[in-house]
Amino acid sequence: MVSFEYKRPASIDDALSLRDKWGESSSLLLGGTDLFLAIEDGVVSPEMIIDLKYIPGLNCLEETNDSIIVGAGMTYSDLIKSSLVRKSLPGIWESSRLVASAGIRNSATMVGNICNAVPSAESAAPLMVRDARIHIASKSGERVVPIATFFTGPRKTVVSPGEIVTKITIPLVKEDFGESYLKLGRYRGEDIAQVCVSVFVDSQWNYKIAFGAVGPVPMRIHRAESILKGNSPTPELIAKAQDAVIESVSPITDMRASKEYRLHMCRIMLEKAVSAAVSRMISSEPALGTRLL
Ligand SMILES: Cc1cc2nc3c(=O)[nH]c(=O)nc-3n(C[C@H](O)[C@H](O)[C@H](O)COP(=O)(O)OP(=O)(O)OC[C@H]3O[C@@H](n4cnc5c(N)ncnc54)[C@H](O)[C@@H]3O)c2cc1C
Repeated sequence: MVSFEYKRPASIDDALSLRDKWGESSSLLLGGTDLFLAIEDGVVSPEMIIDLKYIPGLNCLEETNDSIIVGAGMTYSDLIKSSLVRKSLPGIWESSRLVASAGIRNSATMVGNICNAVPSAESAAPLMVRDARIHIASKSGERVVPIATFFTGPRKTVVSPGEIVTKITIPLVKEDFGESYLKLGRYRGEDIAQVCVSVFVDSQWNYKIAFGAVGPVPMRIHRAESILKGNSPTPELIAKAQDAVIESVSPITDMRASKEYRLHMCRIMLEKAVSAAVSRMISSEPALGTRLL
């Protein structure tokens, strides 16, 4: 039997006051799809649960001149339904459709996903290739952290006990670009990734490549990006980029996959993801949402 206090603050300020008062013995709640499992498994035992879902304004999706703002309350179902996300953030749209099942996606949020910070977190790689910025509020104001430095270890982030992630901003790309997201799972449905990869390419042949589930934190593979930079991908360049990926990642063997299988699939997935991103930039094919693996 687990017991805890539960509060439903009406504003971020009220939530921050609770966070300030309860500190490490509090947990923040959005969809609860990770938090309640963590409580059940004894990973966390909060004395106070601060439910953010009813705070007006957190469930927002806005386009400004230079970015798209995703509020902490936005669920994956909200993101998938949005034509703005599909058009301007195709990698995020594509990855959101691969999270769990419709039932989970109706509650699960992108902010909850990155705050839970498992190495396989579905939204991490697509946010990394778009240089997303994470807005973190506290009693002393707001700080904005690049997603590249947000994750500090498995289930660990830079968010401290007095803080709350309120939104994510994702820079808009005005020129032509292509994106792809591939998830390797044991089966279709409610399974987290054995390996996942996001690729972004723009018309100047600048590449951004990020992998998940192949190290303690999701990671950009800058060496592979540099190898491909300035060129359309030839088999020789892809082979060099694949080697760079293998040298950069450090997968483990666990119940989902062996280290060797993960390394093998990194090569295959890189090639497929680069090819799909480039092809989408040039011809809009393969259609978004087509399973690429
Ligand atoms: C059956 C099942 C299948 C799943 N499949 C997938 C999958 O395919 N891919 C995948 O990536 N994940 C999967 N998950 C994990 C989970 O659904 C996602 O990580 C989800 O996006 C978490 O969002 P949430 O809103 O439910 O977060 P919550 O559970 O509410 O919170 C997650 C964590 O973040 C903290 N937190 C919440 N809000 C904030 C905030 N504003 N600021 C700081 N910290 C905060 C919480 O305290 C908690 O530690 C699955 C889970 C289940 C139960």
